[in-house]
Amino acid sequence: MKRYENFPLIHHHTFGMDVRAALFVEYDTVDELRELLSSDDFARHRDHYLHIGAGSNLLFGGDYDGLVMHSAIRDLTIEAEDANSVLVRVGSGYVWDDFVAYCVAHGWAGVENLSAIPGEVGASAVQNIGAYGVEVCDVIEQVETLALDGTPRTFLGCECEYGYRDSVFKRHLRGEYIVTHVVYRLAKTPTYKLDYGDLRVRVEAAGAPTLVTVRQAVTAIRDSKLPDPKVMGNAGSFFTNPVITSEHYESLKAEYPDMPSYRIDEERVKVPAGWLIEHTGWKGRALGRAAVHDRQALVLVNRGGATGAEVMELARCICEDIYTKFQIHIVPEVNYV
Ligand SMILES: Cc1cc2nc3c(=O)[nH]c(=O)nc-3n(C[C@H](O)[C@H](O)[C@H](O)COP(=O)(O)OP(=O)(O)OC[C@H]3O[C@@H](n4cnc5c(N)ncnc54)[C@H](O)[C@@H]3O)c2cc1C
Repeated sequence: MKRYENFPLIHHHTFGMDVRAALFVEYDTVDELRELLSSDDFARHRDHYLHIGAGSNLLFGGDYDGLVMHSAIRDLTIEAEDANSVLVRVGSGYVWDDFVAYCVAHGWAGVENLSAIPGEVGASAVQNIGAYGVEVCDVIEQVETLALDGTPRTFLGCECEYGYRDSVFKRHLRGEYIVTHVVYRLAKTPTYKLDYGDLRVRVEAAGAPTLVTVRQAVTAIRDSKLPDPKVMGNAGSFFTNPVITSEHYESLKAEYPDMPSYRIDEERVKVPAGWLIEHTGWKGRALGRAAVHDRQALVLVNRGGATGAEVMELARCICEDIYTKFQIHIVPEVNYV
């Protein structure tokens, strides 16, 4: 276990703010996490702690005057295997994209569309990461956790109440459980999902699809569209896509015929937040050192030296303008700290 006071978080999140944690502890095993949870350090910070992964969905408003915990549990084991699938148990600190690469290299299907998403395995199960028509909940069998008193609890995938970028760990059990391992079920025979954006065109340009070519295509598309956090701080999509009533959508559609949408059911329609941002004139615009990316309106970036407060103010102005123009509330996907 590693323990540091007044610890710089610049390399532990992707928005590039020079913030510090009063106390930072990294544990290597479930036993060490249990030890940490029963320690004086944890007792002292019981009301002010944060568990981070790679910090790729966090926005720090300033220094964190509490305990920041991080998992370095990085084991990977095959729990079971049959002719159709394999169950793989992975430590929460395993880098997500390394796990995807491992699956692709072994011919295990199910996560290839989720290539190149930043972050770690633990957060994948909290956030229900998704991309190119796939959500990680489709392959999550179990989520192993410790409650804050050190008691282990395993959630079946169906108990995690997964929704769009949402889970029980983000709602009523928020902060109550720490994910230690995730068990994924991968298929031995791929079912390719290519009907999203220009993925099919990219993949088929290289011949019949394989796990490798899907991973390569997804990675290439992402690289061409999304700013690299190492070059320009960001946390990916800043807002979730809002869901509005069909009635509201029809009235907006009469005024904005090109407004894209995805129907959820008879009563609800999802609208891309990026389109709303673009159509309020925010794409590419800056407020101080925080800006909306010029190629990807859904991504807010740190142009260098921005504070969390500046990014939050930019986000607030965007939300306000969208509400004024479209009467739609958009909410951040990014976790404010
Ligand atoms: C360039 C870029 C592109 C992105 N693209 C996508 C995308 O396509 N799809 C997508 O879904 N997301 C995307 N994201 C967002 C981000 O990658 C995901 O949300 C990711 O799962 C965050 O992982 P993390 O390890 O960085 O978690 P963090 O950001 O550190 O934490 C996220 C949340 O998980 C909690 N948490 C972390 N670890 C644990 C644990 N072990 N136990 C309990 N709680 C924990 C934290 O407290 C926090 O609430 C993108 C981000 C960036 C920067």
